[in-house]
Amino acid sequence: MKKADVNDHYRIARERMVKNQLVARGIRDPRVLEAMRRVPRHLFVDEALVDQAYQDHPLPIGYGQTISQPYIVALMSEALELEGDEKVLEVGTGSGYQAAILGELAHKVYSVERIPQLLARARKILDSLGYNNIFLKLDDGTWGWQEFAPYDAIIVTAASPQVPEPLLKQLADPGVMVIPVGDEFSQNLVRIRKVNEQYIREDLGGVRFVKLVGDHGWRQ
Ligand code: SAH
Repeated sequence: MKKADVNDHYRIARERMVKNQLVARGIRDPRVLEAMRRVPRHLFVDEALVDQAYQDHPLPIGYGQTISQPYIVALMSEALELEGDEKVLEVGTGSGYQAAILGELAHKVYSVERIPQLLARARKILDSLGYNNIFLKLDDGTWGWQEFAPYDAIIVTAASPQVPEPLLKQLADPGVMVIPVGDEFSQNLVRIRKVNEQYIREDLGGVRFVKLVGDHGWRQ
C-alpha cells in the first residue's frame, strides 16, 4: 500500500473504533472522541501487533505491561472532565498512548514511568509526533511528581491496593483523580474529587489493570 493509503486505512480503523467501541458504550465528551480519532494508536504498539491496534482489547507492550483497551482510555480521560487549560499528572506512562490523548486534551501533561525501556520508547514516539506539552520522568510514580504539583487532574493507569497519599496531596483544589483500586485481579475505577479541602469518592465500575509497583502501591 502507498503511504497515503496506509494512513487512510488507520484513519478509518480509528473512526470505526470511536463509533463501535466508544460512542456505542456511552462516551460523549466531544473533545475525548476527537482525541481518540486523532492519535495514531498503531504507532504505540509493537510492530507485530499493529493489525490489532484498534481492536477492542488491551495489548502487551513488553516487560509484563499492557496498553489499555481503547474504551478504558476514553472512559478514564472523560472522567477527568478536562477543558484544555489543565496541568495533568499521569502515573504509568507505559506505551505513551494515554499521555498522547491527555496531551490533546490538556495544557500540560507530566507522566511518570518506572521501567526505563518503556519510558525511552514512549519518549521517542511522543517526540516524533511533536508533542511538546508532555513531560516524562523515570521514577516511582506513587510519590507523584512534587516539582510541578499541584495538578488539576491525576490519572493512575496501574492498579493500587489503596490511593497513594502523596497523590492526594499533589491534587489541586478543586481537582479530580481517577485510579483503579482493588486487589491484583480486579479493581474498581475510582474517581476522587477534591473540593473545599474535602475528598469525594465515586465508583465508576470494574476494571483490570497491571500492578502499581512502588512505595505507596504494591511493594516489590
Ligand atoms: N498508560 C499506559 C498504560 C500502561 S500499563 C499506556 O497508555 O500505555 C501501566 C504502567 O504503569 C506500566 O508501564 C508500568 O511499568 C507502570 N507502573 C507500575 N508501577 C509504577 C510506578 N510506581 N510508577 C510509575 N509507573 C509505574
